[in-house]
Amino acid sequence: MNVNHLSDRLASVATFVKDGARLADIGSDHAYLPTNLASQDKITSAIAGEVVAGPFQSAQQEIARQELGHMVVARLGDGLAVIEPADQIDTITICGMGGALIVDILAQGLIDGKLATKPRLILQPNVAEDKVRQWLNTHSYEIVDEAMIAENGKFYEVIVADYRDNLQQELTSDDILFGLFNKEKHAAIFQEKWQLELKRTNYVLDQLEQASNRDENKIARYQELKAAIQAQLT
Ligand code: SAM
Repeated sequence: MNVNHLSDRLASVATFVKDGARLADIGSDHAYLPTNLASQDKITSAIAGEVVAGPFQSAQQEIARQELGHMVVARLGDGLAVIEPADQIDTITICGMGGALIVDILAQGLIDGKLATKPRLILQPNVAEDKVRQWLNTHSYEIVDEAMIAENGKFYEVIVADYRDNLQQELTSDDILFGLFNKEKHAAIFQEKWQLELKRTNYVLDQLEQASNRDENKIARYQELKAAIQAQLT
């Protein structure tokens, strides 16, 4: 992966960034996503936000190497703290982190007023996608699209959400767990991912059922999960 060639995962994220966007890419590491979009003139401007010094410096170097300093700026800071009102951010990408961390970043950002411009959120959690969907659905964000990618033996999901003043979308527990668009849009990857999750769930259930000190609540939760997954598989 480099500025000219994004991974399939980040390339999928890029497709959901609208032309002319004012982007904040949070947890940007090498700033590959914002520099790729800027080098093709697909965005107006971007912030590459990073909380760790090493990846922040990598982002700075990539921006300088590509001579994109007039469009992309790297900022060192935690989560959405790098966003200033003058940036007029209309799109935020947060990719390659766990769902719980993405939710923490959004929740803190909301408290700090960093979502006041009601930006489009394009989120790519590596795990715990359900936590992300739950947060969006309880914070006036409508999930408008999704993608699934299989890359290097891993499955990734991209969740795209737009702010609604009067959110009408009501998600079921299945929507939260499996997504709204994935089963139809990405049937093959969807089936592959959830076959694997079923195997994992069965394994955990076996262990729980054989334990000398059985946790009946946990067993019931996993049985519920197993039934929900089985209902999705064809
Ligand atoms: N977004 C890139 C991608 O998807 O390829 C890089 C993903 S990398 C696995 C996660 C990056 O997020 C790391 O560089 C890490 O330092 C950064 N990060 C983690 N927590 C963060 C936070 N609270 N604020 C900003 N960056 C954060």
